[in-house]
Amino acid sequence: MRIFKTAQEMSVFSRKTRRDGKSIGLVPTMGCLHEGHLSLVKSSLGSSELTVVSIFVNPAQFGKNEDFDKYPRNLEKDIALLKDSGVDVVFAPEAVEMYPEGFLTFVEPQGGLEEVLEGEIRPGHFRGVATVVAKLFNITDPDKAFFGQKDAQQCLIIKKMAQDLNFSVEILIMPTVRETDGLAKSSRNSYLSAKERKAAPAIFKALQMAQHMIELGENNPAAVTAEIRKMIGRAKLLDLEYAVVADPETLRPVESIGSRALALIAARVGTTRLIDNMLIER
Ligand code: AMP
Repeated sequence: MRIFKTAQEMSVFSRKTRRDGKSIGLVPTMGCLHEGHLSLVKSSLGSSELTVVSIFVNPAQFGKNEDFDKYPRNLEKDIALLKDSGVDVVFAPEAVEMYPEGFLTFVEPQGGLEEVLEGEIRPGHFRGVATVVAKLFNITDPDKAFFGQKDAQQCLIIKKMAQDLNFSVEILIMPTVRETDGLAKSSRNSYLSAKERKAAPAIFKALQMAQHMIELGENNPAAVTAEIRKMIGRAKLLDLEYAVVADPETLRPVESIGSRALALIAARVGTTRLIDNMLIER
């Protein structure tokens, strides 16, 4: 397995790979890898001749009072895991490599998708995400790039960014990998105390309840979100930030639930912020 730390080395390698006629799959991550990340890796390995996993905790997507400094990092362990998985290349740049002194050009999503939900609570977050993903696309020149449905809003914004900026990369969205009790796997789960960890699956249970209500014919999104509020309200240690039944493409709240809806929840468990969502079809 090759490990590159500079954009130059990574870029030379990916251009050569493409010239040799090999396809590249990219899996962008912030490291501290778990089975959610590894499911994306597996998909890439199964459909691309060469798989690049990037590990980069992107400062541009963290707000001032967010957890950039304490975000879990474990590069050695990540590298060992990826080696075992059969990954070809790890791209793990330092922050100054991606944002050297004098860096001034950002990719700024505009027009709606970035304003709601995560975008409303985390201003500038998707600007940071879009910028780093655009840079990773340029550096690694992938045919395919793999993202997780767990970050549904991020997936939609990246798909749109790739289309708007004419990146010739196919964006593939993989299902959310969960713990046995339903909690979506996340690097941030490592912040949870034992009590918080026990309480956290209430987020998934609330999504399941929403799914059940909608499948049984509930058309009124307010009725669904009211039940989610009640359920999260009853769960000790959880504070709901938002619960929305939205259009799966625009993420705007729907007035009446149709054949497809996306239920999204963000909640704090103690000081840890967790997000999850479920696509509901009927
Ligand atoms: P992160 O390291 O949290 O930035 O995540 C890197 C990629 O892994 C993103 O595309 C995430 O959506 C995806 N991902 C994170 N958690 C999961 C999960 N539980 N299941 C599937 N994909 C995930």
